[in-house]
Amino acid sequence: MSEFKDKVVLITGGSRGIGKACALAFAREGANVIFTYNKSKKQAQALEDEIKSLGAKGLGLQADVRDYQRCQQLSEEIMDKFGQIDVLVNNAGIIKDKALMMMSKQDWQDVIDTNLSGIFNVTKNFIISFMKQKQGNIINITSLSGIIGTPRQVNYSSSKGGVISFTRSLAREVAGFGIRVNAVAPGFVQTDMLDDLKDEYINDIKPQIPLGRFGEPCEVAKVVLFLASQRSEYITGQILRVDGGLGM
Ligand code: NAP
Repeated sequence: MSEFKDKVVLITGGSRGIGKACALAFAREGANVIFTYNKSKKQAQALEDEIKSLGAKGLGLQADVRDYQRCQQLSEEIMDKFGQIDVLVNNAGIIKDKALMMMSKQDWQDVIDTNLSGIFNVTKNFIISFMKQKQGNIINITSLSGIIGTPRQVNYSSSKGGVISFTRSLAREVAGFGIRVNAVAPGFVQTDMLDDLKDEYINDIKPQIPLGRFGEPCEVAKVVLFLASQRSEYITGQILRVDGGLGM
């Protein structure tokens, strides 16, 4: 039997892309999968149905990760309904790419509020539950961009660099409670997010990837599953790259 059977897994930004692939991967393992979305109600409903068709419990909830109070309610709602939280995947994220000279204060703030403060807003509201349980796994989705830096992405790279520091600090803080905190750093993964990148940039990057192609969302989900599992029981505070070798 899968170690995830009946475990409670929360994935932020699960309606599309990498978050959706994670939701389906945990559902196939028999977990109770709760996922959040911001705007994509239709996709969320379809995913809920898909999770149920796999024989797992699925619940899609609207929750903007930028909204601290909503994240507080989300935590209360989940703890009331399921009574536990075993895995938290902080995945929700956006890009608003521009050269710094063209980047507005709003472009900066939106990306930091979603990608970095969003992780604070969600994790802060679940951490006491994790600590009381004396076990759990938190997996943050950062980016290769947060490690090596990317032109036209000072907002995004800064937010993802912040996620890396958040991961390491929290990993040290809660290790004594049996909670592991790790991050996954994808390179380029085939999702809606890539549609927002400029074609010239995409064409320039592809030949530089040693494995010769962009990643698939399910290839990131597999690594998330590994970090949430007993197979990685002695790993915490790590940033695992899933980038086809691009950043080596
Ligand atoms: P995506 O296909 O654009 O999906 C983004 C998800 O985040 C959606 O479910 C979206 O919900 C949700 N989201 C956005 N803003 C939100 C908010 N304020 N509150 C709650 N949910 C919100 O992106 P993706 O490529 O799967 O990216 C997932 C994560 O991987 C992100 O953190 C991203 O930075 C990271 N990443 C992606 C790549 C890549 O190449 N794709 C590379 C490195 C890192 P709605 O559907 O409701 O908008």
